[in-house]
Amino acid sequence: MAEVSRLAYRIRPKDPGAHLFEVTLTIAEPDPAGQVIEWPSWIPGSYVIREFAKHVVAIHAEADDRAVSLDKLDKSRWRTGPVSEPLTIVAEIFAWDDSVRGAHLDTTHAYFNGPAVFPSVAGQEDAPCDVRIEPPPEPYGQDWRVATSMRRKNAEPYGFGTYEASDYAELIDHPVEIGELAIGEFDVRGIPHAIAIRSHVRTDMARICHDLKTVCEQHMALLGPPADLDRYLFLLYAPGSGYGGLEHRWSSSLTCARENLPLRGEQGVSNGYRTFLGLVSHEYFHLWNVKRMKPAVFTPYDLAREGYTGLLWVFEGVTSYYDDLALVRSGLIRTDSYLELLGQTISRVLRGAGRLRQSLADSSFDTWTKFYKPDDNFSNAVVSYYAKGSLVGLALDLKLRVETDGRVSLDDVMRECWRRWGERDEGMPEDGFETVAAEVSGIALGDFFDAAVRGTGDLPLPALLASHGVEYHLRPATGRADKGGKPAGKDDKAVAWLGATLEDKNGKFVFSAVANGSPAERAGIAPGDAVVALDRLALTAANSDRRLRAYRDGDVLELVVFRGDELVTTSVELALPPEDTCFLTLAADAGDVAESRRNGWLQIDRS
Ligand SMILES: [Zn+2]
Repeated sequence: MAEVSRLAYRIRPKDPGAHLFEVTLTIAEPDPAGQVIEWPSWIPGSYVIREFAKHVVAIHAEADDRAVSLDKLDKSRWRTGPVSEPLTIVAEIFAWDDSVRGAHLDTTHAYFNGPAVFPSVAGQEDAPCDVRIEPPPEPYGQDWRVATSMRRKNAEPYGFGTYEASDYAELIDHPVEIGELAIGEFDVRGIPHAIAIRSHVRTDMARICHDLKTVCEQHMALLGPPADLDRYLFLLYAPGSGYGGLEHRWSSSLTCARENLPLRGEQGVSNGYRTFLGLVSHEYFHLWNVKRMKPAVFTPYDLAREGYTGLLWVFEGVTSYYDDLALVRSGLIRTDSYLELLGQTISRVLRGAGRLRQSLADSSFDTWTKFYKPDDNFSNAVVSYYAKGSLVGLALDLKLRVETDGRVSLDDVMRECWRRWGERDEGMPEDGFETVAAEVSGIALGDFFDAAVRGTGDLPLPALLASHGVEYHLRPATGRADKGGKPAGKDDKAVAWLGATLEDKNGKFVFSAVANGSPAERAGIAPGDAVVALDRLALTAANSDRRLRAYRDGDVLELVVFRGDELVTTSVELALPPEDTCFLTLAADAGDVAESRRNGWLQIDRS
């Protein structure tokens, strides 16, 4: 086989004030008839069409110092004129997306994901790539460092210079953060790991490294280190508020609120720090589940169009199950804290009528237009394959433990899936997970999966949790801030139910979601209505709990709203709040069998 030609990319923060990167691509052996280049339409891990090429604001081609013609073929592709020498493409890219999925450049830092900046070269997708990462123009970048999991070719650690990737798919799987960074390093089973934090953060880096290592080791113990995992990097952006993550093979990009990070000297795991550890745990588990083991339709990814699979509940939902489970199994959080998180997840699912309309498999399949494009009817029509998927992971785990007398658990199913598809880099067929679960356990699971994955009924969690010594309780919500997971406080009264979410939008209080079958819906309230008064008094996001506690179900009140610029007056009959808020407790007299099952599940060592 002839040696493939190398593609040389170069990227520089050309104009931080205008948020423009310049990307240069030199193709040593272009297609003589005219070279096609293409930007992806989506980024793996975030299942929505983003059309990255729309951020290209200028582009031209040259060869041997002469201009080469460049025709745009469609929304994402260009083709050069015939060319016989090495070809260079130069593009300017607008970068003002401060999420983990795009590219962002200003005078304080530079961040990019490959799909947002690097085009692929038609016919040379398998060719190795060099990337020269250059500093911004002066006066910017004096103390900037480069954090990426891309292999260094000719660059100091955390330095500007040349990096390399073995092909295009790998090239765009290494996000890059450049700026003033706080960096912590640790190792997991001898594999170097690091975390690089952007923005003004004062935190206990030693503690973060210690706790991240604990989480990573927990996941390593389950599935073992992948053969090609020789390094791993967490990129973290910690602004005043925000939350999100995107997984990669050798790294992940995370966003979480600054105040979620622990200060030096702080003890205990705050709710915010627990959220951060859960996020880290989630993205790290993905390095097995979805980055190496993935649905067959993603092997390889077709980034020009949507990839349809019913399996995202396995890759996102089961990952969501293991993210918090790893925290309790590793001892970072206690059992009561874990049960609180589970109760919150159950509450999230119960509060959306969408779970009665859409199956998990359909939620996965339609993610491109529904889950990732939420509209006003979202909670009535869509179920989250993250939240419900994690509960199906829980239900399956507990069911396997009960029905095999503790011989088989979800851990065994994941290990076999990993052995069969992950280690071999082969795609999981659509029925693969269910087949392996049945084979490994030797029990018939068809009815379970039909109901849990393809049906819309509620899961048999109360009985399954009881078999593990955990009691399942439901109660009404006690207010807007009530996320569930805990019993109501003794002074917390249930709030009479309106069934519409009130949000503060620039000082106006607007109904954003109206639940099917709710008093608000029966009264004709619609998403977007701005409330003027309820029972002749102002209703705000801040006072709505207290206002509604003053009434009882059955009370009929005048409700006045603006719909656009028209005043609408209606009457609403308040109802009893639904019992949609869950909390879990340890059963006092569960018995030895249930208790030992519970200890096996949470890996609590009683010796
Ligand atoms: Zn995920």
